[in-house]
Amino acid sequence: MRLVTYRLGQDGARVGVERDGLIIDVEHFGEVYGLPLPSTMLELIDMGPLALQQLDEALVDADQADLVGTSVPASNAKLLAPIPRPRKNVFGIGLNYTEHVAESARSLDTSKDLPQEPVIFSKPPTAVVAWDDPIRHNADVTQMLDWETELAVVIGSRAHRVHEDNALSHVFGYTIINDVSARDCRRAGQWIVSKGQDSFAPMGPAIVTADEIPDPQTLNLQTWVNGVEKQSSNTKFMLFNVKQLISDISSVMTLEPGDIIATGTPAGVGAGRDPQEFMWPGDVVESYVEKIGRLRNPIVKV
Ligand code: MG
Repeated sequence: MRLVTYRLGQDGARVGVERDGLIIDVEHFGEVYGLPLPSTMLELIDMGPLALQQLDEALVDADQADLVGTSVPASNAKLLAPIPRPRKNVFGIGLNYTEHVAESARSLDTSKDLPQEPVIFSKPPTAVVAWDDPIRHNADVTQMLDWETELAVVIGSRAHRVHEDNALSHVFGYTIINDVSARDCRRAGQWIVSKGQDSFAPMGPAIVTADEIPDPQTLNLQTWVNGVEKQSSNTKFMLFNVKQLISDISSVMTLEPGDIIATGTPAGVGAGRDPQEFMWPGDVVESYVEKIGRLRNPIVKV
C-alpha cells in the first residue's frame, strides 16, 4: 500500500491510502467495513501489522462505490509529510556509500577511510517538511546548501538488540528523505547544526509498506536540481544495509514504532562536484527512490 498523510482545506492531518488518483481515507473506509481504524499515520503504525493486514484485505474486497464514497481526488488534497511530526529525532546515517565517502574526503573534512561501523547522527522533528514545502535558505547562515537523496526506513515494531536476520520484520515501510545539509554549518565535527535546521528533512511523498519492498537493497535513487540530474545510484551500494543499520542502532538504542532512519546518500552531492554547486532561492530539488516516487521541494529565501 501507498500510505499518505493528507489535509483537505483547513482540516487536520489524516492518513489515507493513495490509489489510482484517489486518496482513500483510512478511518472513514474502516467505518464502512466495521474496522476500527485511526485517523493518523502514527496511530496506524501503533496498531501493528494486524490492522494493516485487515485494511489491505478490505481494500481488495471493496466495491468501487465504497472506495469513491470514502475517498477524495488526490489533486484536491495537500500532501503532508507521511509522519508530519515524528516523536523523536530522525536517525541519519553518514558516509554510507563508498563513492560518497571518497567525495566527502576530497571536499569536506571527513576521512577517506571507509567507516568500520555506521556513522549515526540525528535531525530533530522540526526539520521535517512535506512534498512541495519550501526548503529555507538563510544566506546569513549558509552559502553551501546541499542535497542528499536517501531511502528512509519507518520502524513498525519495537526493536531492542535485534539480529540482522530478524531486522526487516521490524520495518513498517519506506519513504524518501532529502537530508538537506548546510556544509558550512558543521561544528567541531558535529553535524546536527548543519543537518538539523528547520525544513532540512523533506519527507515523502508516501510510505510504501514493507510487503511491497521485500528487499530494500535493490532500489534506484536519483536527484535532480532544476531538472538536471545530480545523483544516480542504487541502494545495493550501501556500506551498511538496512538490516545491519537496524541491528546496530537497536544494540544501543531501542527503536520504536514510528521511528525513522535515513540510510545515507550516494555520490553526487553539490560539495563533492568540481566546481562545487549548491542550492539557491528559486531552485527546485527532486529526490527519487524507485517504488516510492518523487519528492520535490523549492528553495526559498528567508
Ligand atoms: Mg545524509
